[in-house]
Amino acid sequence: MTVNPDETFYASCALKLTRWYEQNRRDLPWRRTRDPYAILVSELMLQQTQVERVKSYFVRWMERFPTFASLAAASEEEIISLWQGLGYYSRARSLHKSAQMLVSDGQETLPADPKYLARLPGLGPYTVGAVCSIAFDLPVPAVDGNVRRVFSRLLDLDADPVKKAGAAVIAQTAESILKHGTPHILTQAFMELGATVCLPNTEPHCDQCPVADFCASFAHGTQMQRPAAALRTKINRRLGAALLIGSSSGGWLIRRRPKGGLWEDFYEIPWLYGSENEDFAGCLERLREQLSSPCPCRDSGIEETLKFTRWQVRVRLYYAPIPAQIPAGIELADTEKMLAQPMPAGIKRLVERALEKVNENQLDLFAPRL
Ligand code: SF4
Repeated sequence: MTVNPDETFYASCALKLTRWYEQNRRDLPWRRTRDPYAILVSELMLQQTQVERVKSYFVRWMERFPTFASLAAASEEEIISLWQGLGYYSRARSLHKSAQMLVSDGQETLPADPKYLARLPGLGPYTVGAVCSIAFDLPVPAVDGNVRRVFSRLLDLDADPVKKAGAAVIAQTAESILKHGTPHILTQAFMELGATVCLPNTEPHCDQCPVADFCASFAHGTQMQRPAAALRTKINRRLGAALLIGSSSGGWLIRRRPKGGLWEDFYEIPWLYGSENEDFAGCLERLREQLSSPCPCRDSGIEETLKFTRWQVRVRLYYAPIPAQIPAGIELADTEKMLAQPMPAGIKRLVERALEKVNENQLDLFAPRL
């Protein structure tokens, strides 16, 4: 049962959240600045990536590219190499393109203009809201998954918060609270509450919540039913096979990912993922066919899971010797060159673990076996 908030609700939430945030905020590197560029970098890094992982990347990035001008002047290879390990590389490319657009527009940094920001590559309504509110103190809401959950519970929202009607209620409520306080504090308070107290997939810590007195879900005992079920994402799980093709004395087959797709211009060892219900053996068979190679293989026993927003692929690695004829689109690289290439993080982990086993020299992994 959705409740309709009033002015007293907005003002009380703003006051309680401000006090709570000032006493409980985590000390994170991007919270020591209000520089719009730094805020944008942190927000893009934090999308799909955990806070602990982002910390060191953020510090390194800001040391190497302290301004939009320094970022605009860098090569894409350098940018991708610094981003490597964070995944979702389109975020790094968008940041680079935004820096180049700002420089060509004669802007030294981001202007406090939501319409201008919305035209920059890769900046959706959430990121625009985060930069406007945190850097410029404008009452523009930034609604991500955490904030959706907090407001779905606070209002006991029975609509899907991703669909138009539910999203509008949340945006309007968040904006009204921002207008009753200091936007740069309140936006971060919403995020912090969702990350540390009003947690997903478990009982929220309502006993520690500054707005429990006004929370409709808490009053109705419906916390675990909010957000409405339609929001929960179904994860597609598949299996996959990868081949480390080479020799114990060095020399490996790698390929460059095609233009225009996921991980554009990255390198990888040959791999693929299966259709629904396809097992590792089926995936391996198709991979061998794809490479037009007899590729006698050995099972390494090594697996890694590649995680995407709606997909998880568990990939098993196999060893194979280099065939007499190297398949089209594949290059030969020594170990140093292979490891220096930007690779999707999960594939890189597979390669590193496989090389460890090769170095241990437990068995002749590349001896032909039919
Ligand atoms: S009272 Fe509980 S459910 Fe409501 S906002 Fe706080 S933590 Fe979330």
